[in-house]
Amino acid sequence: MAVALIVAAGSGERLGAGRPKAFVKLAGRPMLAWSLDAVRAAGITDVVVAVPPEAGETLGDLAGGEPALRDLVAVPGGATRSESVRAALAAAPSGDVAVHDAARPLVEPDMFTATLAALADADCAIAAAPVPDTIKEAGEDRLVTGTLERSRLWAVQTPQAFRRAALERALAVPDEVLAQATDDAWLVERTGGTVRVVESTPANFKVTTPHDLRIAELLLADRLPPAPAH
Ligand code: C5P
Repeated sequence: MAVALIVAAGSGERLGAGRPKAFVKLAGRPMLAWSLDAVRAAGITDVVVAVPPEAGETLGDLAGGEPALRDLVAVPGGATRSESVRAALAAAPSGDVAVHDAARPLVEPDMFTATLAALADADCAIAAAPVPDTIKEAGEDRLVTGTLERSRLWAVQTPQAFRRAALERALAVPDEVLAQATDDAWLVERTGGTVRVVESTPANFKVTTPHDLRIAELLLADRLPPAPAH
């Protein structure tokens, strides 16, 4: 049976919402609740969430009575995203692992199922969307030095699924190396593990700016059950 680790320990400074990003309200619910719904709808029952270390006693307040956040297995996150993953992994029961950012509340349950299924012939499988834009490299002087071959480019998202041993090996590195990782798949790549792309869509975007928050709010409002008639 697979386990899910949701990293929700970021401060969310770029969002400027005055509380940790994962607990900002989206369509009336803490952002984290939407990802938990998707994980559970995918049939994953073992979930560990890395929360801001300072959340401690205020976790109940941050959860704001949201049913999806009741009985949460929560651990204090680390100084960097991958340190938060490592902390959550240490508290997780055995099995393959799906790591997900709480900052991607629009994730669909089938991305968990598909990335975990792709572990049949890979150490790691990552949700990623084809890149629609042309991507160029430029120097500090803003002069273009190259144009990348777009058909081979993927914008990486979460969930990222891992064979347990591969993730443990990948995370068994000094904190300085973890700090360089913008995703955990890179840590698997650098230990020689195989990483497979599973096609996702840009709809599974990461909420980073107030603009993203607004878009996510509009899209998630459609998923709320209709208000009861009076
Ligand atoms: O900062 P960014 O949006 O890239 O973070 C991606 C995810 O990693 C978020 O869900 C955030 O809560 C989480 N994170 C974490 N621990 C950190 C930094 C980020 O769990 N130290």
